[in-house]
Amino acid sequence: MHINLIKKIIEEAIGKQAIELIEILLKKRNVNEFIIAKKLKLTINQTRNLLYKFSEKGVISFTRKKDKKKGWYTYFWTFEVDKALLFVKNCLMKEIEYLKNTLKSRENKSFYICKNCNIELTEENALLTDFSCKECGEILSLNADKKLIEEITRKINKLEQQLNIIDEEMGRREKETGKKMERDIKKKKTEKSKKLRKARLKRRREAKKIIKEKDARKKGKKIKKAEKNKK
Ligand SMILES: [Zn+2]
Repeated sequence: MHINLIKKIIEEAIGKQAIELIEILLKKRNVNEFIIAKKLKLTINQTRNLLYKFSEKGVISFTRKKDKKKGWYTYFWTFEVDKALLFVKNCLMKEIEYLKNTLKSRENKSFYICKNCNIELTEENALLTDFSCKECGEILSLNADKKLIEEITRKINKLEQQLNIIDEEMGRREKETGKKMERDIKKKKTEKSKKLRKARLKRRREAKKIIKEKDARKKGKKIKKAEKNKK
């Protein structure tokens, strides 16, 4: 699994402590929140805040147990890899879309810049001030920064590569789950047919028994009749 990529993107979405928390939850399922707090060196409230942030994004899940004496709940947390992958995929897609829009407007529209104040304006806004800076009066110049376009393009390419990695991982995991389900279904089928066979054999044995008993009764009657006739 490309866990570093997942960690990095969740860190961007949630914050620095995300990585430590993921590392704790990757080792074990159903981790007690007090143990998490101890490992993160946070108070239980800080820990819960962090856990809720994760939980909001859907990448972790919990079970809870009630302390019968004290009457409160303790929460146990589990990292949900499939949901984390989906979350990461959505983050990447959003970012790519945003960058593509930026690129489009960069390519289609003109931007003007004041070199003194380092302020950038769209052509429409630059027209309003007759192409001079509102702050210092300097004449605005066309900002045809090719570097910026190249940079955005590079970034999009990189994110698309990451998206591919995540898609592949999701596909692989889906296949695995599919195979497991197939195995489970097969297993159930064999168990069912075994049961049916057993039942069939049992019925056959019982039928044979009944026939035998009937035969025995018939024989018994015949003998009695014969004895009667003799008399
Ligand atoms: Zn200026």
